[in-house]
Amino acid sequence: MREAELYTRLPEERVRCELCAHHCLLKPGQSGICRVRENHSGRLFTAVADLVVATHVDPVEKKPFYHVLPASKSYSLAAPGCNFRCRHCQNYEISQVSRQRVPGFGAHRRPVELVREALAAGCRSLAYTYTEPTVYFELLSETALLAREQGLLNLMVSNGFLSPAARQRLYPLIDAANIDLKGWSDRFYRRVCSARSKQPVLDTIASFIDHGIWVEVTTLLIPGYNDDPAELKELARFLASLSPAIPWHVTGFFPTYRLTSVSPTPPETLNRARKIGLEAGLYYVFSGNRPGLGGEDTYCPGCATTLIRRYGFRVLENRVREGRCPDCGEPVAGIF
Ligand code: SF4
Repeated sequence: MREAELYTRLPEERVRCELCAHHCLLKPGQSGICRVRENHSGRLFTAVADLVVATHVDPVEKKPFYHVLPASKSYSLAAPGCNFRCRHCQNYEISQVSRQRVPGFGAHRRPVELVREALAAGCRSLAYTYTEPTVYFELLSETALLAREQGLLNLMVSNGFLSPAARQRLYPLIDAANIDLKGWSDRFYRRVCSARSKQPVLDTIASFIDHGIWVEVTTLLIPGYNDDPAELKELARFLASLSPAIPWHVTGFFPTYRLTSVSPTPPETLNRARKIGLEAGLYYVFSGNRPGLGGEDTYCPGCATTLIRRYGFRVLENRVREGRCPDCGEPVAGIF
């Protein structure tokens, strides 16, 4: 346990956590919705400042980032915990931990070791992923500073449910973020994720872009829950209004955790969502989790030629040269 950052001390030994948009108000002995931050006698402590539950060397495409150093390796790490309760969580065993079980999870690791391992594995970035990096902010920020000193990029894969104060702290640290915009209706956020509204997520996407962070967005389509075409149109229009160059990943759901009675996403739903994104004016819309479906490549927004061919997490061909289309010279947005 270590004293947490980003909180306010209040009378009667209460504290308000300022890390995510839940803004938990905690009495002594209480822990937050994430279950990894806890009020001890009027001070907020984090149980995961040095607790690492997963590390893997992944293709950056697996995060997914399609316009960040294509075909490079990313050292991916996670601490336990999450501020959402998604009924379809693919990593629920490490994200949905009980307060009592947190100390027994993972291993105590130092940021310097993580960065050293990333370099030894030939990675060009660190990805804070698998669980929700917001709730291990202290570990993330210390590691990210060291990673940057060593010339590595910092990538965040997040639900985006951040407080304004946390965003401010992340702007100088994060190079790219893949934000899960889980659906367009607040009802979906409440019913499936136990979050009151999508607005903080929209604010994170907009403010990260404003601060020069490269943003890609992912929406996992769950049949009957968040795949309504009218809602997807609104979602895509929102993204296009911020920038038509935001890559939007529409990905396929598989039954898991507490949503095992729902069928996998049919290919037609993914194809329809991709069409909706393109019609809204987005340049780069990808279908994911269904290799070979035909929505995995990057096309030039200028001349429509194929620039990056992919199959699953593999890059088969990358024709982008110095961030431009080799045929017409059109810039290709991203980090190349
Ligand atoms: S990170 Fe979010 S969920 Fe956890 S204590 Fe802070 S405000 Fe609550």
